[in-house]
Amino acid sequence: MGSSAITHRAFCTAQGGDDLDPNYVLSSRVRTGRSIKAIALPPHCSRGERRLVEKLCINALNTLTGELKGKYYPLSSMSDAEQQQLIDDHFLFDKPVSPLLLASGMARDWPDGRGIWHNDNKTFLVWVNEEDHLRVISMEKGGNMKEVFRRFCVGLKMIEELFVKAGHGFMWNEHLGYVLTCPSNLGTGLRGGVHVKIPHLCKHPKFEEVLKRTRLQKRGTGGVDTDAVGSVYDISNADRLGFSEVEQVQMVVDGVKLMIEMEKHLEKGKSIDDLMPAQK
Ligand code: ADP
Ligand code: MG
Repeated sequence: MGSSAITHRAFCTAQGGDDLDPNYVLSSRVRTGRSIKAIALPPHCSRGERRLVEKLCINALNTLTGELKGKYYPLSSMSDAEQQQLIDDHFLFDKPVSPLLLASGMARDWPDGRGIWHNDNKTFLVWVNEEDHLRVISMEKGGNMKEVFRRFCVGLKMIEELFVKAGHGFMWNEHLGYVLTCPSNLGTGLRGGVHVKIPHLCKHPKFEEVLKRTRLQKRGTGGVDTDAVGSVYDISNADRLGFSEVEQVQMVVDGVKLMIEMEKHLEKGKSIDDLMPAQK
């Protein structure tokens, strides 16, 4: 899995996904992380190494053009209000409050060396030195997951080429796939997901079973470890290992479509028993 940057050819084997019902799907997103070879990971890296990661990112990302042209915003030069606005709009990582970040030492020297790079319309973003050296994200409002994944593939491939050209390839091996900070992200590191409104399904006794059978997971819209506000959930692939990037995004597309169909049944007071999928 994840044997090299995802090629356009691989991407073309995905099916559908440009038509997730925007009455239910508020936004679509695909992200992964990348670690730079020979630089210690965030729990252990020195301040110098962290600053080197930031410098390499700025040098590489500032050469992107066209739909990907953007700018780097270091956390240290952002006002508190600007930072909070980016967090509230779901573009930026949270402040270092999670026990995972704090207990592992990943929040040392915060906010030094941390920042966010994004293109002009905030549809392609790179987090620098949060939980991973790089987090690469493609996102947009609505349910066009196909377009989000296309931009993710194109942008990620370019970034990987730029880093290789600069003599700093990404950590990867045949057995583990991409090596990221959190072991839960080994493999593709890919999390594709949507914010979806499912007021009936989320209260249904079979909701957990539907998630399990479609190999999806739920989070609140404030991110990992947050509870859902109202009936909007972040629904994404549960696996990072054992499936290719294309297969993982396909599972999200197919599973979310099914959940929306179930939601529509429940709206009309119909049963969802005949829609229960087999275990993937
Ligand atoms: P990650 O796996 O990228 O670290 P988190 O669960 O930590 O994700 O959430 C990080 C931020 O990304 C949060 O603000 C979250 O709301 C936002 N986010 C995640 N998925 C989506 C989505 N489909 N649409 C919009 N924002 C999202
Ligand atoms: Mg996170």
